[in-house]
Amino acid sequence: MARYRDANCKLCRREKEKLFLKGTRCLSDKCPIERGANPPGQHGASMRRKVSEYGVQLREKQKIRRIYGVLENQFHGYYERATRMRGITGENLLLQLEQRFDNVVYRLGFAPSRKAARQLVRHRHFVINDRIVDIPSYAVQPGDVIKVREKSKRLDVIHMALKEAGRAGDLPWFRLDKAHLEGELLSLPARIDIPTPVQEQLVVELYSK
Ligand code: SF4
Repeated sequence: MARYRDANCKLCRREKEKLFLKGTRCLSDKCPIERGANPPGQHGASMRRKVSEYGVQLREKQKIRRIYGVLENQFHGYYERATRMRGITGENLLLQLEQRFDNVVYRLGFAPSRKAARQLVRHRHFVINDRIVDIPSYAVQPGDVIKVREKSKRLDVIHMALKEAGRAGDLPWFRLDKAHLEGELLSLPARIDIPTPVQEQLVVELYSK
């Protein structure tokens, strides 16, 4: 299965902003963006040229892809599906990304980052409605109950992630039962509630050209 294997921080440096790809490190002063790192590459420090409209749209698309950890082909597939759905295409795109199983595990607080969530899912540490699901892109539906498997309940990475302040339990479209290590997707979120600071309409403009 294809996936991005290079350094995560490089992606943030390229977008010149924090994409929170590495869990707790992102909140510490070890974050290269906090330390004012330049974009990667030989000419990273001198990248000050004016960006075209196309460039702005392209960067936003890359940013969203990188936040959710989705490769280009799959991302384009989400867009295609979004155009066929009712409602606003950009929002439909974002909703599909939010429904990804790895994202739901991260949002529930069972993993420190989406990348870590993806690995936990692949290693079969979770069940959905009592069935093992090891597909990170699986689309979780409202009413689905996600549980940590009995044999995985002692995993430090899950407990440490849950201890992190803030994220877990904050989002009203989830129910989280920390004591039993289970959560439920209650409903699909409204765009305004999704805490991902992106302009998804720029992706729609880019792909509609
Ligand atoms: Fe991005 Fe986190 Fe690395 Fe900072 S520490 S550059 S937010 S991945």
